Amino acid sequence: MKGYMLIAGKKVYTQEEIKILFPYDGSLVGTIPRGKEEDVNLAAESAKVGFEKIKKMTAYERYQCLQRAARIISKRANEFAHLLTLEVGKTIKESMGEVGRAVNTITLSAEEAKRILGEEVPFDAAPGIENKVGFYRRVPLGIIGCITPFNFPLNLTCHKVAPALAAGNSVIIKPSENTSLVVIKLAEVLIEAGFPPEAVNVVTGYGEEAGDALVRSKDVRMITFTGSVETGKIIMSRGGLKKYAMELGSNAGVYIDEDQDYRLKEIAEKVARGGFALAGQVCISVQRVFVHEKLFDTFIEEITAFSKTLKVGDPRKDDTGMGPVIDENAADRIMEWIEEAKSLGAEIVCGGKRISNTLIEPTVVINVPEKAKLFRKEVFGPVIIVNKVSSIKEGINQVNNSPYGLQAGIFTNNLKNAFKFSEEVECGGIMVNEIPTFRVDQMPYGGVKESGIGREGPHFAIEEMTEIKTICFDLG
Ligand code: NAD
Repeated sequence: MKGYMLIAGKKVYTQEEIKILFPYDGSLVGTIPRGKEEDVNLAAESAKVGFEKIKKMTAYERYQCLQRAARIISKRANEFAHLLTLEVGKTIKESMGEVGRAVNTITLSAEEAKRILGEEVPFDAAPGIENKVGFYRRVPLGIIGCITPFNFPLNLTCHKVAPALAAGNSVIIKPSENTSLVVIKLAEVLIEAGFPPEAVNVVTGYGEEAGDALVRSKDVRMITFTGSVETGKIIMSRGGLKKYAMELGSNAGVYIDEDQDYRLKEIAEKVARGGFALAGQVCISVQRVFVHEKLFDTFIEEITAFSKTLKVGDPRKDDTGMGPVIDENAADRIMEWIEEAKSLGAEIVCGGKRISNTLIEPTVVINVPEKAKLFRKEVFGPVIIVNKVSSIKEGINQVNNSPYGLQAGIFTNNLKNAFKFSEEVECGGIMVNEIPTFRVDQMPYGGVKESGIGREGPHFAIEEMTEIKTICFDLG
């Protein structure tokens, strides 16, 4: 597929192109234009017109357009899923799951378009103020720049674009250079569904070029970004005075309490699925597992047994349980980190081998020292580390022993321990008797510490993507 940029509904090409490769075997999936600052400027001119047009639409019209878009994607689910598998390398089952979630995110945003509320302000509650009445409303910001990562290109773009349009903003999307084709299709569907073409623009290209130009644009009122911490920090230092929502990385931790022996098999399977879904390239992948010492050996047996049943290979095949990582560089880095942990005394109990350029076995590493990168940083690959702890206190300390704070999990039947964990762990979301990888699209979602700023989930994203305007009438 020859990709293009979409500016004011027109297909825009550049001479220089970027290749999109199938992560499984490196074959060519398509190309996208290498957009630059001049393309971002064109998109900004278009988005200004788009904002004037979308502002004139009623909430009900915006609701209808989003509902229509959800229906179109739902009907074309197989086509979207197939392209996701080719661009991201995720299994067909995972791709179908992402398409279903994208439809849900758009539908939720449609519903939220109908309940963007303000309220009365009691001006006369200040001494000496009489004859004044008024209220505040939530109004759209204007142009929102949406910068998205490779791992869930469809649903995570929907998490930005659908609430932005629901609230009456126009958007410029800069998708990941690895996975832009599916985002171009999404933008086309939104226009087909009835949004003004000028309100939905896509500029493709590299982060340091097209992305940076979008971040620096004076016309853009907000950057909503999902991606790595490193990029998030660069964006905030480059963008100047505008709003930011930052959905960044993590190395999610889970604690397994001592009373969980009777269902360790079930927990081990959940943990493995949470660590190996999309080959570990999920921002809330289970990366660090802390198991009470009484259960440690049995847990290792169970997680190893399950992990070995996962079939690694071609993500287009129905029986594949885990596909490749995004590219060879990612695989090189993941293997280096496994080797580093080994050299620091950790032990591999399952996997650990590279099967091809981008396929890595589901890997479980135990007794990983804190100074190892596998412990400290975000691995974003199919690697789970499991360490022994001796109490809930140590479990909490170890889960908190991270620069990140997106989501965490605890398995326990001890109510006090569950509560203590939820109070003391510093994260945006705590899952009790569930893995940290759990997310549904309506819930508030986002991180603390280096995991980010702001919350997604259409209701919460709309709060970030609108501003409060106060209106006061003097009746004297
Ligand atoms: P990335 O940071 O490399 O890239 C993300 C996007 O930023 C891409 O579109 C890229 O082109 C763009 N970009 C890169 N440099 C830029 C710059 N200087 N200026 C503007 N834009 C720039 O991330 P990735 O590898 O695509 O995705 C993986 C990361 O995303 C992981 O860290 C993962 O945890 C994180 N993530 C977070 C969430 C969340 O909701 N918190 C969800 C998914 C992924």
